[in-house]
Amino acid sequence: MKSTLKPVLNYQSDSLCFGEKSIRLESLAKDWRGPLYVYDLGTIRERARWMKSAFRSVQAYYAMKANSHPRVLQTLAAESYGADVVSGGEIQRALECGFSPKQIIYSGVGKTLAEIELALQVGIRQINVESLPELERISKVAKRLGKQAPVVFRLNPDIAIETHPYIATGLAENKFGIESGLWGEILSRLSREKDSLRPLGLSLHLGSQMNEFESLREALKKLIPFWKEGASVSPDFRVFDAGGGLGVDYEKENPEAELELLQNYANTIESCLKDLPAETQIEPGRWLVARAGLLLTQVQYVKRNSHRQFVIVDSGMNHLIRPALYSAWHRIFPLRQDPNAKLEKFDVVGPICESADFFAKERLLPCPQEGDIWALADAGAYGASMANTYNLQALPQEICLD
Ligand SMILES: *Cc1c(COP(=O)(O)O)cnc(C)c1O
Repeated sequence: MKSTLKPVLNYQSDSLCFGEKSIRLESLAKDWRGPLYVYDLGTIRERARWMKSAFRSVQAYYAMKANSHPRVLQTLAAESYGADVVSGGEIQRALECGFSPKQIIYSGVGKTLAEIELALQVGIRQINVESLPELERISKVAKRLGKQAPVVFRLNPDIAIETHPYIATGLAENKFGIESGLWGEILSRLSREKDSLRPLGLSLHLGSQMNEFESLREALKKLIPFWKEGASVSPDFRVFDAGGGLGVDYEKENPEAELELLQNYANTIESCLKDLPAETQIEPGRWLVARAGLLLTQVQYVKRNSHRQFVIVDSGMNHLIRPALYSAWHRIFPLRQDPNAKLEKFDVVGPICESADFFAKERLLPCPQEGDIWALADAGAYGASMANTYNLQALPQEICLD
């Protein structure tokens, strides 16, 4: 294995190149047919290997809501990743793309009857339960189907992480996970419903875009006594699922720093759990795919008023909602660089009839020409998977480099 990650973006003779093979993006944008996501499967493969190798022993389940493109899923299945799904639709997509049922774990607060039936009928590995009424429903369906449901309990540790409030999930005020005060009730229900429920362990997920791990350490430590209690009631109770959430630096690309953060993340989890005879699981999404994707968009107009200058492009919050939803930052690069261009401050905005429809505010960029193509970097996670057809705009196109 190479000793470090390779940066995914660089200019060669002023032409922007992307991915493991440094493909010239201009060659993909020649006959412009609208906004285009480009994914580099080699980069995903490389990151998947780095992530696993940071741990001594781990089962990794890719959180496929981050990017559910079939070829991305096939790539991660081939790297022996499992899939962390959050809907019946994702169960089906995972099966179609090469994950076996035993490689699928299922999280989410709103599992319907039909989705639970599907999960039990295809025989997925585990259902991460998020509430008592959900547990009751799972038990009922399992009895009706004559099956024992494999359940893992997602406990809400009531711990904050430093991230945008919309992507924090581990606080009591969030809808996610089961309050730890209900653990006694869960244990007694388990002892009454042995025929329909097979408890396999605990899970937690604090949220996304974590860049330091003190809260994760605190949360893992907080759940250890609950895990031990679970393990004492059932020999099958072994899973400790530490969730996902490892962040990427959207402001710059620094491979050494990124690998150091990854190693700290793995060390945090392994050192907290080292005295338990637990099977460690993780559910990474963003870290595997964010850097491996970008969104190409074409400049339509440069519009000036007395307050601001706008670059209006043909893609917007309909294709990449992260800036509108989380005030997220994405680096922006012209496909053809002019080293002598003078930089000006622009708001980069889309065609959607909402003031939240922006990619950047007051960003220093070279003044473009109509028809120029720009790349929004690090858009491989929560980009196309969150795209929608608001304003009856077409969905973005997607291609994979391999
Ligand atoms: C979204 C999600 C993840 C993945 O989070 P990332 O920040 O993309 O790593 C993992 N587990 C659960 C339960 C999730 O909802």
